[in-house]
Amino acid sequence: MFTPSIEIVDERFERLVFGNTHLDKLYTGCRWAEGPAHLPAGKYLVWSDIPNDRVMRFDETNGSVSVFLSPAMNQNGHFVDREGRLVSCEHRGRCISRIEHDGSRKVLADDFQGKRLNSPNDLVVKSDGSIWFSDPTYGIDSDYEGDAAPSEIGASNVYRLDAHSGEVAAVATDFVKPNGLAFSPDERLLYIADTGTTHVKDGPHHIRVAELSVDGRSLGPARLFATCTMGLFDGFRLDANGNLWTSAGDGVHVYAPDGALIGKIKVPEVVSNVCFGGPKRNRLYICATTSLYAIYVNARGAGWPR
Ligand code: MG
Repeated sequence: MFTPSIEIVDERFERLVFGNTHLDKLYTGCRWAEGPAHLPAGKYLVWSDIPNDRVMRFDETNGSVSVFLSPAMNQNGHFVDREGRLVSCEHRGRCISRIEHDGSRKVLADDFQGKRLNSPNDLVVKSDGSIWFSDPTYGIDSDYEGDAAPSEIGASNVYRLDAHSGEVAAVATDFVKPNGLAFSPDERLLYIADTGTTHVKDGPHHIRVAELSVDGRSLGPARLFATCTMGLFDGFRLDANGNLWTSAGDGVHVYAPDGALIGKIKVPEVVSNVCFGGPKRNRLYICATTSLYAIYVNARGAGWPR
């Protein structure tokens, strides 16, 4: 009764997907598609094509695709803040930047304690305006997705960028290669992927979850949430009910809040990242290697924005 794209692992997944929907292939021609973010006011989605050094744009009103930004400082992850501004992780700029309302680019953070960031990979903006981002080395490991350079910090951490003071504080320092991250709908938990197996044999290929402190500015210890059964968890998003929709080697894997794998959306390319979009926030956009896909699901993205 479900299409071949849908794999039900647990009956809880049956009510999150439609039996008669299908996977739309919206664009192909990227080298490594990543970093989707939906801009509701403009009715479009942006995503990165990192090796081609460009950011693409999918127009929801007519289905057209155009180049949004090129050159693009090898941008990777994106997020739209509560003022509707696009916040970006720049590999080549080795910074977090934001497009202001007047169209100018503003660098928000490019160092930690006086040492240059490695290459910010993915980010989320909390309701208080703080920006939480991962800083692995993928953008400085080679010239393919940025500029090859040694790490000045000598570690790959997760940071919190204060919206008001601009202070950058390390909030997680025990990850090998922190990657995608997202808050639970109530913002009491932060989920963080570790793709450390790219650099360490039999290294991490899982998502851990940590509780935020009472003041919402730091994290407790991160416990294991789920280990990837196919490929890597790179980027992910949560729906309004706390289910986690994550990239994996064979598609999108969906986890219940208790950590159980409940279903998969099979995609014919390796998936890097996802986000919810559309007017009802029930369309899951999927960046997968060379292509952008989307599928309507019976769930809505958590929080603001997508
Ligand atoms: Mg990533």
